Amino acid sequence: RQAAYAALREVTPISRDGQRITVMINAGLRDDIANLNLTGADGIGLFRTEFQFLVSATLPARERQTRLYRDVLEGAGDRPVMFRTVDIGGDKTLPYLRHDDGESEENPAMGWRALRVALERDGLLKVQARALLEAAAGRTLNVMFPMVVEPWEFDAAKAVFDGQLAFLKQRKKMVPEAIRYGVMLEVPALAEQLDILAPKISFLSIGTNDLTQFLYAADRSNPKLAERYDWLSPSIMRFIRRIVTVLDGKGIDITVCGEMGGRQLEALALIGAGIRRLSITPAAVGPIKELVGKIAVAEIEAAMAQWLAHPPRSLRAAMIEWVSERGI
Ligand code: PEP
Ligand code: MG
Repeated sequence: RQAAYAALREVTPISRDGQRITVMINAGLRDDIANLNLTGADGIGLFRTEFQFLVSATLPARERQTRLYRDVLEGAGDRPVMFRTVDIGGDKTLPYLRHDDGESEENPAMGWRALRVALERDGLLKVQARALLEAAAGRTLNVMFPMVVEPWEFDAAKAVFDGQLAFLKQRKKMVPEAIRYGVMLEVPALAEQLDILAPKISFLSIGTNDLTQFLYAADRSNPKLAERYDWLSPSIMRFIRRIVTVLDGKGIDITVCGEMGGRQLEALALIGAGIRRLSITPAAVGPIKELVGKIAVAEIEAAMAQWLAHPPRSLRAAMIEWVSERGI
């Protein structure tokens, strides 16, 4: 695997018409940092902090969290790391963190998870906020919140960070040089209030794994539905295109961090829909960087605009034809 990574490590993802696409990796554990250098990726677009919680028998103490985050930042050097606060619940349950009534949920993906847990058990978020702020002392901290549905949830989560920041400053501790806040867009309802949220955020990360599940009302982990809907569809692409349009000119970085960004046709479609930043599984970084070098962004954008205005029966089929006509 290392040899396969090395062959494409030095490839810079610039399209034939000169557009630089940012290609980052998804990560979650200390060992993943090595993948940054192996792949030559532009940074960590999604650091899933819940992984440390999932591999731990008890709630990770603040010092352990701080050490992990600091190691990740040091390993990344100048490259940005987008830390996502814990997304537990749903398919990621922790024996030491249960809902008060102790009952299992019928629909955990739509249940007590992610920010919903963190805002209710705000001790958890306070500890994590302190750990992140301390770990990023003197650097830039990029932090984003999962499963934000309404703007007030972002405000409440940010308030926890503000509180911890004030505490550290009062104690004359070193704090981050800059803090950039973002959200995951993975629940469709947030898109309806994105203009309200926009002035408060620096970046947005579209989580297509959950977004697709909620847009299609189709459980992402149900094998019976795995083949049912194609995420390379006009619905998803129109949705993403609309987000790009709503945020256009507002100086907000938009990344797609779901698994689809790591597949060839899907990545091409996302670029066609106006996405310039992808955060993907490390194994896909080389192949996607290589793909970018073969395409002209303006050309796929024009084609996508046509497809979205007059959707073909199968977007995938239309794209396969488009790609093979051009020998991509
Ligand atoms: C997503 O939902 O697309 C995402 C990137 O987050 P996760 O897969 O961790 O839910
Ligand atoms: Mg998600």
